[in-house]
Amino acid sequence: MRERWQDDSPHDECGVFGIYAPEMDVSRLTFFALFALQHRGQESAGVAVTDGVRLIVHKDMGLVSQVFEEDTLQSLPGGLAIGHVRYSTTGSSEMRNAQPFARTRDGSFIALAHNGNLVNTDELRASLVRNGQVFESTSDTEVIAALLAEHPSRDIREALRDVIPRLRGAFSAVLLSKDEVVGFRDPYGIRPLVLGQIEDRYCLASESSGLDIIGARLVREIEPGEICVINERGYEIEQVVVRKREALCVFEFIYFARPDSVMKGQTLYAARSRMGEELASESAVDADLVIPIPDTGHSAAIGYAARSGIPYGDALIKNRYIGRTFINPDDRIRKLGIRMKFNPLSSAIRGKRLIAVDDSIVRGNTTRALVRVLFEAGAKEVHLRITSPPLIYPCFYGIDMANQHEFIAFGKSVEEISRELGATSVAYLSLAGLLRATGVGDANNRFCAACFTGEYPCEVPEHLRWSKFRYEENTCGGLRT
Ligand code: SF4
Repeated sequence: MRERWQDDSPHDECGVFGIYAPEMDVSRLTFFALFALQHRGQESAGVAVTDGVRLIVHKDMGLVSQVFEEDTLQSLPGGLAIGHVRYSTTGSSEMRNAQPFARTRDGSFIALAHNGNLVNTDELRASLVRNGQVFESTSDTEVIAALLAEHPSRDIREALRDVIPRLRGAFSAVLLSKDEVVGFRDPYGIRPLVLGQIEDRYCLASESSGLDIIGARLVREIEPGEICVINERGYEIEQVVVRKREALCVFEFIYFARPDSVMKGQTLYAARSRMGEELASESAVDADLVIPIPDTGHSAAIGYAARSGIPYGDALIKNRYIGRTFINPDDRIRKLGIRMKFNPLSSAIRGKRLIAVDDSIVRGNTTRALVRVLFEAGAKEVHLRITSPPLIYPCFYGIDMANQHEFIAFGKSVEEISRELGATSVAYLSLAGLLRATGVGDANNRFCAACFTGEYPCEVPEHLRWSKFRYEENTCGGLRT
């Protein structure tokens, strides 16, 4: 299994895409859409396609460009398709958990691809096993597919109306049947999903950048609790569960989604630049150069430099082609550590007081190594400026971060964090500043920010909380976090 070394960022779980366009090469379009969504998951990729009679699923471990070749795409004929890129959270990183999942249903078939994480998978799986369902994976997506497959209604919408209220947690999913593609989103809207139009046909994608690449235009976001059916007649939207307080993962704005994607009417590049501006206002410091931690710190560093009046420049050069490798480094390369990913530009760094802008710090291992690299390259001071508040609560909705005690910020003051990272100073953006920078109206009530606040929008069962929280005995013999 691949080693997740040299990686200190939160990770999104997945990206999804679906299209109904019988006169187009839908497998090829799905391939390109997945290519644009590759940042959302690099462990496996897959496409399910149908001509209305046969269902063909092709999926494998690896990047989209590794899983699909010209010959593969030519062997996937059909008029409607769904696709998926995966980063594992529920279910380990192995072939049997790659998506889409196919199931027989009512003498036909369905295939399903899902972004997010259910918090009641165990309970749902147990009831399905009691009904005789067999599972080939440990993925929550297969559980949703099985619930839909065993549903007695012949009408897939009827089945969705019944099944969706039983799902707890985060889900933005695309489903393929023999004649329709259906997108659906949890009642909090934790993970994104958008509807696009390509000529007079429609498609669904996790982000608008998945539409741009195939020449589709953004029609609208699928709202929390909605299903969107795309078929021969166009698209139809139905609210199938009462929407709750909206809770889009704020990390989509901070880091996950591509800067060229548009969410809630905001281009994420501009939102991240505003985060840098807010940060410069909140935590100014005298320095010579504002540098981004590549790649995600770029837009925020530009905003910081603009607001502070301090020049912006590159100081760390990222190896663009590192991607994810299945080859484990040998000991000599492992010792060089961070150099495999970043190389310092000594001429830009020597003798300078630097402000290094990044989006978040999880465990701090990569950040600590980067600070060391900057000092070794001659920096006089390194002030870390982070465009999110300190991460101190784990995510249960599909973001791979850490258990609570592994967060560098857990139980520490900012000064202690700074000392631990070896930086001259550290400052985090406030939650108010972050929400303001999103540019979204009434932002206080439209985002999940539970990994900063511990206020989870959708209740997390106790056994899951146990698995990720640090529990300690208090004086009453009870438990507290
Ligand atoms: S807990 Fe954090 S990472 Fe998870 S969905 Fe909420 S904001 Fe996103």
